[in-house]
Amino acid sequence: IRHTGNRLNILVTGAAGFIGSHLSEKLLDEGHQVVGFDNFDPFYNREIKEENIRYSLSFDSFKLVEGDIRNFEDLSRISEDHDFEVVVHLAAKAGVRPSIEDPVGYSEVNLIGTQNVLEMMKSREIKRLVFASSSSVYGNSTEVPYKETMNVNNPISPYAATKIAGEVLCYNYWHLYGISVTCLRFFTVYGPRQRPEMAIAKFIRNAYEKEPITVYGDGSASRDFTYVKDIIRGVMSAVDKDLKYEIINLGESETINLNDLLILIEELTEQNIQREYLPMQPGDVKTTYADIEKAERLLNYKPVTPVREGITKYIDWLEKTGKISLKVKS
Ligand code: NAD
Repeated sequence: IRHTGNRLNILVTGAAGFIGSHLSEKLLDEGHQVVGFDNFDPFYNREIKEENIRYSLSFDSFKLVEGDIRNFEDLSRISEDHDFEVVVHLAAKAGVRPSIEDPVGYSEVNLIGTQNVLEMMKSREIKRLVFASSSSVYGNSTEVPYKETMNVNNPISPYAATKIAGEVLCYNYWHLYGISVTCLRFFTVYGPRQRPEMAIAKFIRNAYEKEPITVYGDGSASRDFTYVKDIIRGVMSAVDKDLKYEIINLGESETINLNDLLILIEELTEQNIQREYLPMQPGDVKTTYADIEKAERLLNYKPVTPVREGITKYIDWLEKTGKISLKVKS
């Protein structure tokens, strides 16, 4: 999608992260003014995040502010220095399993932090927000594909619960203060810069390092994996549109189970993977599968990257940037 409207002043929280760094680049390429806000949460290495935003930092129209959404003052200060028209709120503690270890920490960032962002928007009369929600809100719903109209009252992890609560908080600010919010439920995003603890990143790394891969469950759990470039096109479209209050799935609308994913990774990396089976982990859902009719209708969203092609691109990127090397290992 090429931006055809005016140049916008945009705040991106979580800009140094996986999705945030891709989004910032795209916004800058399209001529927008971007302030990236991030606290470099130690969930994974700061160096990785610094590398993520290197390209963005080459733009005069980009400014990076180190700050914490848990701290209202940090948000208040940047909003005084800039006249934001749109906020894309991606900053969060992500990851399902760690949320079981640190539920309060997740609520502090994903709930109080989100409310601070909304309060800042209220006080500065900023009228448009795009909020990063998650497919995990669907819990273990057995009805697939997942539609936005489905009940999401049964989250199976603290992370999922905070994402549902975030959507609900957003609704309240729409109702009371007319802040338009588009909540985007991302379905497992992957590709260059993917968070190191996520499945595809970890599996490929292990394949090259000839380390066994732990499979939780019997391998029949399935995921709707979404290539990061496809997600970004959906987010860009949400930035461009005032939809009042909407919740929209962004997925690939294709699923692959863990066993088939490992076979595919073996083929694409030309490595044999040793599997170790352990019981399914608490908090992990059995399947995710997005119905994307609403995204097509409201955002003109059309994912174009099948998982085989996306993983091939990801491996190319890992090799090109020297993160993995087939030659050394085999
Ligand atoms: P990420 O961890 O790479 O990015 C999140 C960024 O937020 C990080 O750079 C982190 O430093 C920052 N952050 C964390 N706590 C903060 C705080 N208190 N103050 C300021 N910044 C803070 O994760 P990601 O995969 O890019 O995810 C981005 C968003 O999308 C998150 O809200 C996540 O929950 C959501 N999401 C991601 C996926 C996925 O598959 N990657 C799926 C569903 C939803």
